[in-house]
Amino acid sequence: MTQRGEFQIIEQFFTHAPFGAWTSQGPGDDCALIDIGGRRIAVTCDMAALGTHFLPDADPEDVGYKALAVNLSDLAAAGAVPRAFFLSIGLPRRDDGWLADFSRGMMALAQSTGCALLGGDTTRTPEVADGRHSPAVISITAMGDLPEGKGLTRAGAKPGDDVWVSGTVGDAYAALRCRQGHWDAMPDALPQLYARMDRPVPRLALGQALLDVATAAADVSDGLLADLGHILDRSGVSAEIDFDLVPRSTALRSMTPLRQREAALSGGDDYELVFTAPAELADRVRAIGVATNTLVTRIGRIEKRTSTALVVRSGEGLLPITAGFDHFAAEEA
Ligand code: ADP
Ligand code: MG
Repeated sequence: MTQRGEFQIIEQFFTHAPFGAWTSQGPGDDCALIDIGGRRIAVTCDMAALGTHFLPDADPEDVGYKALAVNLSDLAAAGAVPRAFFLSIGLPRRDDGWLADFSRGMMALAQSTGCALLGGDTTRTPEVADGRHSPAVISITAMGDLPEGKGLTRAGAKPGDDVWVSGTVGDAYAALRCRQGHWDAMPDALPQLYARMDRPVPRLALGQALLDVATAAADVSDGLLADLGHILDRSGVSAEIDFDLVPRSTALRSMTPLRQREAALSGGDDYELVFTAPAELADRVRAIGVATNTLVTRIGRIEKRTSTALVVRSGEGLLPITAGFDHFAAEEA
């Protein structure tokens, strides 16, 4: 497959010419922006499966929190204010303890962000072998409000814009590698790393504050390079970023340079925002970072589209570009 599998499937089977009274800018962004009678809403939908997106023994309270958080992160990338969500859940069996914890984690975040649960669907997962059912799957559709005519998408980055990223990147991936037993970290760093994996903070205030400033935005779910790559493709531009500027936590910085690179550039699941803004608005971006209590770091520059979409510098040299996460990368079409 010439294109990454997951996106090739969407393009081949789930992209159609617009029809009907409600239209959006088309797939490819974190949210669909839909104009309804003088109002604009942002809608996103994310599915998670235990065993794929969560370790099979993940704490159900964390699962509930994160299932909603990743959707709110898409709303943040659009600059929308969360208003409502719908929950579809498939369960292998009834386990009231698990459900109570799951619900507590999810609803605490829902309440703190004013995003109400307005509907959904509950079903049992299919039986896979002698009475055993496949693991839980959770699909959430979240909706948010946007000012009329506004909303951030992955299209709109212009040559000369700065590339920015919020917070630090790579921690969630480093946490996963540690949990899987492949990497290790100083014992006092582990809780911080695990918290980044289990409790990602959707950058809602930042996204909303960037509405009049950013030219494009995406949340970092697949990996910094992959999600920046989506911005570059949708905007028809190239970029050069400097790995030495990419913000990394103290915990990640205590790991080998190679691991730092793998985690920060290619590891997903951080739910930070990567965005672009005109160079002359850099001070405004910094002020928004202060006002929203969010670290924002300039990591590079957008350039005219060339045959190489993305160049990553480090010191005097260039780093190889590695792909982000793709659910169907290894499968043939
Ligand atoms: P994100 O990582 O922000 O959740 P994805 O990478 O999952 O976004 O999806 C990329 C784009 O493709 C999004 O605009 C999404 O709405 C769209 N998309 C994904 N799956 C489907 C599908 N089955 N049908 C239609 N559109 C889809
Ligand atoms: Mg997204």
